[in-house]
Amino acid sequence: MKQWASALEWIESRLNPQTFERWFGAVVWGGFDGSMLTLKVPNKFFKEWLSNNYCDLIEDAMARQCGSRPLVVFEVDEQAAPALVPPPPEAVAAPTLSARAHVVLPHTNGASRLNPKYTFDSFVVGSSNQLPHAASLAVTEMVGTKYNPLFVYGGVGLGKTHLVHAIGNTIRARRPGTRVCYLSSEQFMNDFVWALRNDKMDVFHRYFRKEVDVLLMDDIQFIAGKDRTQDEFFHTFNSLYEQKRQIVLTSDKYPQEIPDLEERLRSRFQWGLIADIQPPEFETRLAIVKKKAEDEGIQVLDDVAVFLARSIKSNVRELEGSLINLAAHASLEGRTVIDIEFAQHTLKKVIALAQAPLTVEAVQETVCKHFQVSLDDLRGGCRQRSVAFPRAVAMYLCRKGLSSSLPELGARFGGKDHTTVLAAYRKIEKKVSEEPDTRSRIEALERLLGF
Ligand code: ADP
Ligand code: MG
Repeated sequence: MKQWASALEWIESRLNPQTFERWFGAVVWGGFDGSMLTLKVPNKFFKEWLSNNYCDLIEDAMARQCGSRPLVVFEVDEQAAPALVPPPPEAVAAPTLSARAHVVLPHTNGASRLNPKYTFDSFVVGSSNQLPHAASLAVTEMVGTKYNPLFVYGGVGLGKTHLVHAIGNTIRARRPGTRVCYLSSEQFMNDFVWALRNDKMDVFHRYFRKEVDVLLMDDIQFIAGKDRTQDEFFHTFNSLYEQKRQIVLTSDKYPQEIPDLEERLRSRFQWGLIADIQPPEFETRLAIVKKKAEDEGIQVLDDVAVFLARSIKSNVRELEGSLINLAAHASLEGRTVIDIEFAQHTLKKVIALAQAPLTVEAVQETVCKHFQVSLDDLRGGCRQRSVAFPRAVAMYLCRKGLSSSLPELGARFGGKDHTTVLAAYRKIEKKVSEEPDTRSRIEALERLLGF
């Protein structure tokens, strides 16, 4: 299917090559009927990891190809070859854009989006996350009255989404009638835009202001710079707050540090409790590896758990991903126990990447891939925006992330003057501070490069 092939290319450009290869290398196209995309994977580890971590990305990628977001379904097919096999051309189904005739808001199927695996039981508590964990528990005991809003912030992959789901799952288990709505602020924006376009603002208002008892909104930083969405969220917030309905927000930044956020929202975010999650220390990382292995029925030897906890420090998602990836590969090879040789061998690239020093070439290659320009063009002199902008971005990232001097960087970009590098750096720096879209793009690149 052509759309999937293009979608896959786009996905590839958004991920670092190892991550892409580890997770998408084993995905085989299984069919697309215009509204549902079926992907085949070789075992349950791939299925769970991909559906928990990459559904949104896959949906975004498909939406770019066919205009509407399909539902992504993973099927375990042990025969599915772990290779990027392009699907047969005759199987192409014309997308029926109207297939998803929405009667309700597209993203607000509320509690059904809660992942049952993200519970308090499966969350390992350590000094890095004690406060947000305790505050989240308190919220489930005194819904709407203790900490409102609860604002949890911290870096990527540190457990914010997990905690928020745990809140939702616990409240629903204790009080089954409670209407819990979990969504990201991006989905909130999409629903808002959809409601505007389809003349359904009444449905939107009714839902968010009246039919939600607990609003769990993930990644609120995304609405920065989106004026109308912020305005809408402001009214949603006020309405829920006045009715003493619980609001929980997560963000990758402290409210004061979210740029382009309206002051009135900033101040509201501080009305309740703000709790930050820090990267876990070694003992917590080790406990997480052991707990995940136990929960998933993966047998890892102690030295493997220590090896993982020592090697992968900054991000729990990476840590967990490496463990699940080991299990996925062990299962492909028919191994029942994961030992240290197997672990070191399988994760060699990933761990080398985590520790490798950043180079100009790595920055240039990552930028080329992201913007889909060639290395020659990036280092060349073409002034067309489609090339000049990625070049300036690459220069900016090199200047920011490496200790090389300006003349040295100029030389690595095809012999340019140091003033050119400086000008590019300043230009992008300005854009980053003024344009939220550019900023999030650059931040995504920085994450890819491990800044
Ligand atoms: P964030 O939303 O902060 O980017 P997530 O909540 O998605 O991060 O967490 C990434 C992964 O790491 C999830 O699979 C989650 O279960 C796991 N995780 C993070 N912190 C913990 C923890 N303290 N205990 C157990 N698992 C955790
Ligand atoms: Mg998250």
